[in-house]
Amino acid sequence: MRCEVCGHAMAKWDEPPTRWWRETWECPWCRATATTHGPELRVSRPPYASWETRWARALSDMLPEPERHAYAHPRRTLCGIERPDLSSSPFGTWGGADGDCPECTAEALAIDARWPEQLREGFGDFLGVEPEPDPLDAPGRVPPPDELGRPETELPQARWSPHTRVLAAPPPGSPDPDPGYRTIGAGPSAVRLPARWIGAVVDPYRRDAYRWPMFPEQPLDTLPPLDEASFTGDYAWFGDTGEPLEYRTPVTDRIAAALAADGLALPADFTALITRSRLHRCLDRASGYWTDPHGPLPSPLHPDDRLVLLLREQQNCYLWYLYLHRDGSSAVVRTDRDLTADRGERYGPDGAPVPPSPIELVWCAPSTEVFAYRFLAWATLLHAIEGRRRAADLDPEHLAYLAHLARPRA
Ligand SMILES: [Zn+2]
Ligand SMILES: [Zn+2]
Repeated sequence: MRCEVCGHAMAKWDEPPTRWWRETWECPWCRATATTHGPELRVSRPPYASWETRWARALSDMLPEPERHAYAHPRRTLCGIERPDLSSSPFGTWGGADGDCPECTAEALAIDARWPEQLREGFGDFLGVEPEPDPLDAPGRVPPPDELGRPETELPQARWSPHTRVLAAPPPGSPDPDPGYRTIGAGPSAVRLPARWIGAVVDPYRRDAYRWPMFPEQPLDTLPPLDEASFTGDYAWFGDTGEPLEYRTPVTDRIAAALAADGLALPADFTALITRSRLHRCLDRASGYWTDPHGPLPSPLHPDDRLVLLLREQQNCYLWYLYLHRDGSSAVVRTDRDLTADRGERYGPDGAPVPPSPIELVWCAPSTEVFAYRFLAWATLLHAIEGRRRAADLDPEHLAYLAHLARPRA
């Protein structure tokens, strides 16, 4: 394919076709792209975009500050750094910010100068592209009985064993003394918080349950009970957690040092999730959320307690923090407030300042590791339901998790 901007021969990306596009071609000179769609290979050509809006930020665990660079397909930065895990960040475009990589900026400006002035308006078109039919929807196809995402789905029998972290029933002898609430800390200084899980409803029969922006809250007693004693901070259920990343350990070291000055310690399972090469960004990869360790921050509930940011939902509608109580206990909590940024003054329609609403913290999980387990199980199941995978192909623990969520309730 020839570049319609500058006339150079374009090169085809080595990417598998999807239902949305067949091939992507890119010009090595002006970096214009063209994408083909459908059996007739209709071509869509993105129009000109100014250099500060043209590139996505780079994402990598193998660079100290990947977001300083622009991402250039495949797995490299615009300035030429290659890393096997490089990808484009879903969190905003790159360009024009303080601290951006000067070599990336120079390359972006050079590429921008190669677009002829007369093609900066009116060039290109976005086709109204429909996805190609899903083979799973082929007429006459008989789905297997355990195919997820249909009203007729039959779940296979879940197998519970003494080693399964998902329990068939709540552990005996552990009646919930305070339904709907959990505490962090002991005795009179304990912080009592409402306890709820939040996220799309996991339902093996409903593919439309897969709606990330919808966040119904779920009482904790509707979640599959876990053998919490088996979560010892080693992520044994995850498998190989990988080596500590030399670029990530300074992040948790800084947080741990600041906590130590206040007599608190950062739990090892938090540090592992941030710094271990295979664990790091496992939540992001499953969900499109953003792991963003930051802090410590003062707790809005007590001046001697601390919060450390763990995870942001894409739109910052929800943020999860590790709550560190002054007596040394901790838990994962959630709020809708970004406590890392100054909220600034806000004004009502009459021009009067609006005071900030109270910060509500909701208890989510007793530890970072349990939170990660539930979060990954939830995301894995939603993906499996949306993709109409077979229930028999699920990891046995995830099948047990799903079977609990799907069982009829009294
Ligand atoms: Zn070109
Ligand atoms: Zn760069």
